Amino acid sequence: MSLADIHQRAQAAAEKAGRSMDAIELVAVSKMQPDARVESVLEEGHRVFGENRVQEAQGKWPGFRERFGDVRLHLIGPLQTNKARAAMELFDVIQVLDRPKLATALARMAHEIGQCPDLYVQVNTGEEDQKAGILPREADAFIDECRKMDLPLRGLMCIPPVDDDPSLHFALLRKIAERNGLDGLSMGMSADFETAIALGATCIRVGSAIFGDRPTP
Ligand SMILES: *Cc1c(COP(=O)(O)O)cnc(C)c1O
Repeated sequence: MSLADIHQRAQAAAEKAGRSMDAIELVAVSKMQPDARVESVLEEGHRVFGENRVQEAQGKWPGFRERFGDVRLHLIGPLQTNKARAAMELFDVIQVLDRPKLATALARMAHEIGQCPDLYVQVNTGEEDQKAGILPREADAFIDECRKMDLPLRGLMCIPPVDDDPSLHFALLRKIAERNGLDGLSMGMSADFETAIALGATCIRVGSAIFGDRPTP
């Protein structure tokens, strides 16, 4: 696979669903990938990337930004409150707003800094203990709370349980977004981004299918 292949497959899935690729952002998930692989994707002209650790992203992206210019960075892994300020300074999009305490911290810092990245609420659609995210039944109330804090909510994000049919989770995420008037749907990874596009994804997060398998730590 390569970036061009993924573009092509995403495009075909969008066409089949009667959708335009203009409404679908491809986030290339570069976490743990060797710099050389990330560089070659930058050289192909791609500018939207996803990372799941603040510290790892701090190590590589300021340098890449200096060399390649504007890059749009999405945070897609859990965010601790003590890293929230660093995340706000580095990322354009934070997809992992998953608890009231983080919402409060982001709202306070947004007020201090005078700006805030676009935010997605992470929903734990599979209600898995080991996974972060707001439970589906608590999502409406949490979204309300975030709006009262003036946080710039753009949409919802989910990571379906590995052994489930992802369609059910994508459909649930979409239903929650629709009833709350949110347009953004971050769903779909290497194994299921075409399904996600068919079900309305506006943001797909594709790592290994673009870069190859991640080296094991
Ligand atoms: C790692 C990761 C991805 C990318 O996974 P691939 O299977 O490599 O495409 C997408 N979303 C999140 C939240 C991730 O942590």
